[in-house]
Amino acid sequence: MKWNSIETFFLDMDGTILDLSYDNYFWHQHIPHIYAQKNNISFEKAKLEFEEKYKKKKNTIQWYSLNFWSEELGINLDTELIKTKHKIKVFPKVPEFLDQLKKRKIKIILLTNCPRKMLNVKITQTKLWGYFSNIISSEDFGYAKETDEFWQFLEKEIFYNKDKAIFIDDSENVLKYSYKNGLKNIISINYPDSNREKQEIQGYRSLDSISLFEFEKKFID
Ligand SMILES: [Mg+2]
Repeated sequence: MKWNSIETFFLDMDGTILDLSYDNYFWHQHIPHIYAQKNNISFEKAKLEFEEKYKKKKNTIQWYSLNFWSEELGINLDTELIKTKHKIKVFPKVPEFLDQLKKRKIKIILLTNCPRKMLNVKITQTKLWGYFSNIISSEDFGYAKETDEFWQFLEKEIFYNKDKAIFIDDSENVLKYSYKNGLKNIISINYPDSNREKQEIQGYRSLDSISLFEFEKKFID
C-alpha cells in the first residue's frame, strides 16, 4: 500500500493516543479507594470485591460504562471523573502525528469503547477536538469493539474502503475482531500504559508509540 492510497485512519483512544495509566489509576486505584471509604472496609478488601465484579463484565459494554458502575457501586462516577481529570494525559507527539495525517488529507476517525461522558472530558482535557472527522463511541451502538456487531454497525455508519484504511489499537481482542471483520492494515501498540511493562501482541505490526509511525514508508508490501 502506498501513502497516497490511504484514505482513512481509525484510531483507538485509551492506550493508543492517550496514556492508559489514567484508566488503570481510575478503575484500579481511585474507585476501589472510594468504594472502601463508602463501605467502611479496607482498600484491599474493596479492591478484591470490585475486581471480582469488574472481571465478570470484561468484554461487555457495561465494563466501560460509568452509569452501570455508578449504579452497581452506589458511587457517582461522573463526580470522580471530574475530580481526577487532571491525570488524563495525551502521549507525547500525538498532536504532531495527527497534524501529519491532516496535512495528507487523511480522514481521522476515533473508535473508542470509552463512554460519551468520559470521552468528552478526555478530549476536552487533552484539547484534541478538531482532529477527528468522526468520533465513534461503542456506547452509541450498544456493542463493544470486541464484537462483530460493533463492526457491522460501523459499516452502516461510515463509508470507508477497507483496503485503504489503517486501524491502530492497543487491545489484542479488539484487533482480532477488526481483522475478522475485514480490516487488513492493523497496528498494535506495545506500551499502552507509560507505567507498565511492554505488552507482546502477536500477529500484527506493532509500534512502541503511535508517534513513531513512519510516514512515507511503504506500508504494506
Ligand atoms: Mg485502547
